[in-house]
Amino acid sequence: MAVHRRRRRRWYIDPRLKLGALGAALLVLACAVIGVLLARRAPDPADVAVPDYVRQDYLTVNEWSRPGTELKEIRGVVIHYVGNPGTTAQANRNYFESLSSGKEGTYASSHFIVGLEGEVIQCIPLDEIAYASNTRNGDTVAIEVCHPDETGVFSPVTYDRVVELTAWLCQEFRLDPEADVIRHYDVTGKVCPRHFVDDPESWEQFRADVAAEMEAAAEQAD
Ligand SMILES: [Zn+2]
Repeated sequence: MAVHRRRRRRWYIDPRLKLGALGAALLVLACAVIGVLLARRAPDPADVAVPDYVRQDYLTVNEWSRPGTELKEIRGVVIHYVGNPGTTAQANRNYFESLSSGKEGTYASSHFIVGLEGEVIQCIPLDEIAYASNTRNGDTVAIEVCHPDETGVFSPVTYDRVVELTAWLCQEFRLDPEADVIRHYDVTGKVCPRHFVDDPESWEQFRADVAAEMEAAAEQAD
């Protein structure tokens, strides 16, 4: 007895059409991935314009405080305190410049110095390294912070400015404040910045304030 096999009817789709649809889907996906990657990629430090509150007063290129070595990629921000109570941002900038004579035999500098009134001086362009953070000089931006007394606690106006500047750097260079913003202490164990080492909770608060500032800035931009 012959068995009648019923064949299910299937929609016939031209294989070429299937291949074309698959190709188109892959192309759309690839474009989306490339778009996301491009949006996430940090800009070249040489192309970045600093905020209005930053005054640029670059050091002379010299072997002791501004070697002119290229900083290719910024992977973090290192916070310092000047350790010299009551000194201004300008005084600290002039100190770095004075090192260029070589008489002191000291290598030191910083990209930014935030002063007692919240003023900011930039000593070194963002595409050059500073001599501030030892083994992390090659991939970080340094911020030196002025303070009124030996405790190393920043005045409120100074603190707010450091938060603002750090948040801007994180935003600009796609950094995570919880992971990429560090203390000099985290690099070498040096007690710097003093208050953020003496009181670790204040350090956690600082990072949280930077994250909050980034969110606030992003909302304003929307
Ligand atoms: Zn330091």
